[in-house]
Amino acid sequence: MNIATRLAPDRRLVTSFIDGAAAATGPGTLIEVIDPATEQVVGELREADAGEVGQAVAAARRAFDTGPWPRMSSDERKAILYRIRDVILQHRDELLALEVMNTGLPVASVAWQVSRAAANFEMFADVASTLAGQTFTQDPRYLTYVTREPKGVAALIAPWNAPLALASMRIATCIAFGNTCVLKPSEYTPHSILRMVELCHVAGLPNGVLNLVNGRGHVTGESLVSHPGIDMVGFTGGSETGRSIMAAAGRNLKPCILELGGKSASIVFDSADLDQAIDGTLMGIFSNNGQQCLAGSRILIQRSVADRYIDAFTRRARAIRIGNPLDPNTEMGPLAFRRHMERVLSFADIARAEGGEILTGGKRAEGFDAGYYVEPTIVLAKDNEARVCQEEIFGPFASLVLFDDPEEAVAIANASAFGLVSYVWSNDLAVTMKASRDIRAGTIWVNTPMMRELRAPFGGYKESGIGRDGMSSSADFFTELKTTSIPYGRIAIPRIGLGG
Ligand code: NAD
Repeated sequence: MNIATRLAPDRRLVTSFIDGAAAATGPGTLIEVIDPATEQVVGELREADAGEVGQAVAAARRAFDTGPWPRMSSDERKAILYRIRDVILQHRDELLALEVMNTGLPVASVAWQVSRAAANFEMFADVASTLAGQTFTQDPRYLTYVTREPKGVAALIAPWNAPLALASMRIATCIAFGNTCVLKPSEYTPHSILRMVELCHVAGLPNGVLNLVNGRGHVTGESLVSHPGIDMVGFTGGSETGRSIMAAAGRNLKPCILELGGKSASIVFDSADLDQAIDGTLMGIFSNNGQQCLAGSRILIQRSVADRYIDAFTRRARAIRIGNPLDPNTEMGPLAFRRHMERVLSFADIARAEGGEILTGGKRAEGFDAGYYVEPTIVLAKDNEARVCQEEIFGPFASLVLFDDPEEAVAIANASAFGLVSYVWSNDLAVTMKASRDIRAGTIWVNTPMMRELRAPFGGYKESGIGRDGMSSSADFFTELKTTSIPYGRIAIPRIGLGG
């Protein structure tokens, strides 16, 4: 099936979506959107310039300052967010097809991401509708109460590696608390996001609450983040981009939540159930085409089990079914775009140059006429200092390092600029407890591949991010706290100004 042929001509062009309507198509830079499985142009986006970004911010500003959304009861907002969930699920197949066309992710893994997008709206509707304030009575003459209010207009910037799942998380955490926003998705993956934004309006989201601008980071993204009408910035993407976004937001004194990159350690101890560890570490690095922030891309293996582990891990990686992402049997599709594929492949040369041994892969997959297909790649690194162990490659590229004892494993895991997640594989309780305590990462998964508990905080230590998504952490970022003190009766106020 070639989805490109199914995209109606009037759906090929993606423009901004502002105040409940698609922006008129006028002059502007057109950027081609390419299906990574076929290398065919499947559409274009018309890049929003600073003027158009300004219109989107103004719409979000109006919706916040005078519109119904922040003033609705939380139950009214919840009802609309539940309808968004339902409408997304009703359009599951359409969203799925667009997502696969834009990303090259295997349809089997995109299926749960569409469900996740729906779940994000439901979950944050629930969180926001049960949000409670606080009261204090330190001075018994007064009641002091703390209320939470929506914070304002957010700039939300999303990446390409799981567009619907990640953008919906940003949108839901923001609007559930009564805020409004302007979203800029990645220029590589605009189609599924535009459709989701349209569907939010079909479900009854008032105009101006969720506005969409499309374009490249240094044009549309920078205009959005540095716009004075923005009150806060929510960003998911690479650490270098995060640095410049935080600097731009900082110039306007705007708070940021940053979900950034990773080089997460997956530690296989000799006390592990090795079969489980092999299954889990394969999922950890090769699922989602290896393009995930929480990939277990640095696999640390205790020397005593290294031969057995590496032999089986390599054999299984070679047997991963690479193919058309629309085939439900495909386990790995093409990488998202040509430049990204070239960058991922360049790390094979880097690995060799720094003394690493390529155990498998390191080249484009054979047997395809088109598409950015890459073989699952495994490198036994010389040591953890190697670039393949320190830099985020963001592809199906596993870097292996050996260690002798648990203390060394934790030290290696922590010898990284990143600290997003870590995986611990061991059936020795003391080993797992100590490793979980000592590893400096925002999430530790023990004997399991990635498992997102959406209610719990998720985010990174060090260069993997600032702030957390999650139930209370998102509420903290997306609301302002207001303290009000009222005396129970008439109080004696010291009287000044009576001297003359
Ligand atoms: P990226 O940083 O290149 O781009 C992310 C978004 O930022 C895109 O929409 C891009 O257009 C925009 N952008 C780029 N420069 C900008 C600028 N100067 N101002 C404003 N916006 C700008 O990241 P990517 O390549 O799209 O995504 C991959 C990265 O995202 C990886 O590093 C991955 O680890 C990270 N990521 C992190 C998480 C997380 O939850 N921690 C989740 C997914 C992806």
